Amino acid sequence: MMTTDSNTRTRLARHLFVAAWLLLIVSLAWDPVSSRLTTGEVGWSPWAPRDEVVNVRGEVVPLSGQYALGASLLWGIAVPLIPLGMMLFGERLWHRVCPLSAIMNLARRLTVRRRVGTGRPGNARRIDPGGWLSRNAWEVQFGLLFLFLNLRLLVINSDRGGLLLFFLFVIGVAGLLAMRFGRQAWCDHLCPMAPAQRIFSQPAPLLKERGGDGGHGYWADVLNPSRHFVYYGYFGLVIAYYLYYFLWSGDWYYYHSGLWDHAPNPLGELWAAGFYIAGREIPIPKLLAVPLTLAAGVVLGNLLWGGIRRLITRWSGDAELGAHRTLMLLVFCAFNGYYLFAGKPVLRGLPGPAEAVVTALMLALSGWWLARSLAMRPAREDAPALVLPR
Ligand code: SF4
Repeated sequence: MMTTDSNTRTRLARHLFVAAWLLLIVSLAWDPVSSRLTTGEVGWSPWAPRDEVVNVRGEVVPLSGQYALGASLLWGIAVPLIPLGMMLFGERLWHRVCPLSAIMNLARRLTVRRRVGTGRPGNARRIDPGGWLSRNAWEVQFGLLFLFLNLRLLVINSDRGGLLLFFLFVIGVAGLLAMRFGRQAWCDHLCPMAPAQRIFSQPAPLLKERGGDGGHGYWADVLNPSRHFVYYGYFGLVIAYYLYYFLWSGDWYYYHSGLWDHAPNPLGELWAAGFYIAGREIPIPKLLAVPLTLAAGVVLGNLLWGGIRRLITRWSGDAELGAHRTLMLLVFCAFNGYYLFAGKPVLRGLPGPAEAVVTALMLALSGWWLARSLAMRPAREDAPALVLPR
C-alpha cells in the first residue's frame, strides 16, 4: 500500500510533469526566451555555438545559429530519460506520474462527474479483453511506435508546428478514449511508448516497484511470439533509426551535432533524395527512404534475435529460460545501443567528462540489470512468481 508521504510525492511529481509538458507545448507556439541559450550569451549553455562543422550532404555547416529550444529539450533530454527511468523505477510508477495519463485521468473524471450529475452511471465501457485490439495490443502499439519514429525522422524532430499538432492530436485522441473507455484503454492498447516501457522495465525494475505483479505477467507471457516479435523488432528499430541520420547526411557526426532538431525546412525535404552515401545521392525520396530503413531494421532485428534465441535455448536446455535469457541480453544491447546516441547532442555541449561519465553509468546500470535478470528463473506453479537472486 502506498503511504501518505509517497502519495504526496507522486502527486507532486505528476503536477510537475504536467506543468513541464504544457509549458513545452505552449513554447512550440510561442517562445521568446529559450533561443538566448543558443547564441553564446549564456556561457554554460549546452546549446551555445561550438567551433565545429558538420558535413551535411556535401555541404559544410557550422554548429551555430539562433533557434527556439522546445524540440531540443524534448528529444535531447526528456525522451532519453525514458528507458533509464523504466529500468530504474518501472512502468507502474511512471503510469502514476505520466502527464498524458494525468490528462486522461482528468478527462475521465470530468465525464464521470457529468454523467453522475445527469443520474446516469459513470462506469466506462471496457475494451473487450478477448477482442482483436486486446489480442493484438503488442503489434498495434509497436506499429504505432514505428509510425511515430517515421514521423520523427520526416517532420517532427525539427518542425515545431508539426510537433505542436502532433501533441494536440495525441491529447485529443487519448482524452476521448479515456472518456469513453477509461484511461487504461490508451495505455494498454494504443500508446506507442508502451512497448519501450515494458521492454525496459520487465520482469522487474532495478529499484523496488510498489504494487508490481511479482513477475507473473512477464513469466506467463515469456514465450508469447508477439512479445518476441516486438522485442526483436524494437532492437532493429533503434539501430535503424540512428543509422538513418548517417544515411541521410553522409556524416556520422550529424546526429551528435544536434543539427537535426532545428533543421530549417523538413517538409521541403520529403521529396529530396533520401540517402546520401559515399558522396552520392541515391534517388529514393526521403518519404520512402525513412520507412524502408526502419522496416529493414525490424526485419533484420527479428532474423538476428530469432537466431540468437535458438542458440541460447539449445544451450539452456529449457524453452522458457532460453526465451528469457534472449530477451534480457537483447534489453542490455538495446539499452546501450540507444545510449550511444540518445542525449549525446546535449551531453557534448557540457564541459568536462560529462559524456564519458554518463556512458559509463549507463553501461554499469545495464550490466547490473543483465546480471540480476539472468539470475532469475521462470516461475513454476509450485514456486514464487519471481525468483530474484539474493
Ligand atoms: S502508456 Fe503512454 S500514456 Fe500510459 S503511462 Fe505510459 S507513456 Fe503515459
